[in-house]
Parts: sequence; structure tokens; C-alpha cells
Amino acid sequence: MDEEDYRLKGPAFLTLVRYIKERRGQKGVDHVFSILKKEMPELYIPSKEFKTKKMYPDMLFIRLLEILDREFGKGDLRECYNFGRYSSYNLGVMGIFVSFLGTPSTVLKKAPKSWRYYRNRGELVVTKLEPGLGVLELRGYLKSKTICTELLGFFNGAAEQTKAKNVKVRETKCKSKGDPVCEFMITWEE
Ligand SMILES: [Zn+2]
Repeated sequence: MDEEDYRLKGPAFLTLVRYIKERRGQKGVDHVFSILKKEMPELYIPSKEFKTKKMYPDMLFIRLLEILDREFGKGDLRECYNFGRYSSYNLGVMGIFVSFLGTPSTVLKKAPKSWRYYRNRGELVVTKLEPGLGVLELRGYLKSKTICTELLGFFNGAAEQTKAKNVKVRETKCKSKGDPVCEFMITWEE
């Protein structure tokens, strides 16, 4: 399957543009998109043209995160993590993801549906769910450390917003390390 077949819904891009704007202003947004235009003209879309219901290439999202991390971070993917965490607090439409009254198990149970809402390829599967421990497997998706790091930030942020204490999220398997799937483990105290 070609990379271009992997697509992601508009709100992810709108949230990313907002994240950059809140931290670096419109100048920062223009900077990131001018680099995109120069380095990857085939993927370029003006920052104001994203629509909520449309889908765009996942590769565009990945490149934007990488430019953001390189230009405004240290190139160590920390900015991708920070954005993931931010998006768990700011993702509008799919706010269903998080419950302040629930535990991270609520987050885990909703994750597969949320993935299907946003993406046309790959699936998130809950492979283990018990008090204080949940495991999510990401199957059939691109090999991208950038996206894994963003997801790690997202799950961390989402789990933090529940009433659970001492939340920890780790990526325990990764396609980037040669594993057949990516796997995220969330632990917490109820
Ligand atoms: Zn991974």
C-alpha cells in the first residue's frame, strides 16, 4: 500500500495550526508552511485551507510535525510529544475521548472508535484491560516514530485528564524498532 493512501481528518491539522499559532504566532505558522512549500511542494496546502470534514495525507501531517520539531524544538521529537498532549486537551469534536470522571480504561475503550473517526487506515485494538493496566495495539499503520511519539503524548494527556493517579504511558513495541506492530501500555492507580 502506498503512503499516499493513508489519510487523516482535518481537525488534526487545524489543531496543529492552532498549536503553532498559540506558541509562535502567525509568523511561526507561516514559517512552518513556507518550509513545507519549499521542501515538499507536492504535499503543500496553505495553512488556512484545512476543512474539518476533509481528509488529507498522513504524510503531510508527519512532515508538518517534523518541521515543527526541527524549527521550534531540538529535533528530538519532544515537540511532537508536546503537540500530542496538547491535542488531547484541545481536539474539539472528539472530546468524547476523555472523561474527567472516568479512569484511563475509558480512554482505552474509546480509542479504537476515535482512530476510525480520524483515519482511513490502520486500527487500534485493546489487547488487555484490567484495573490499573491497559494495552493498545496499533496495527496496519505506517512506520513512523513521529506519529508514535505524538500518540504517546496524546494518551498521556488523555489519561491525565481522568481521575486516576500516577498515570504512566509507554510504547512497549514499535514498528520503528522492527516489531510487527506498535504497542502502548498505560498503567495507573485507581
Ligand atoms: Zn511505534
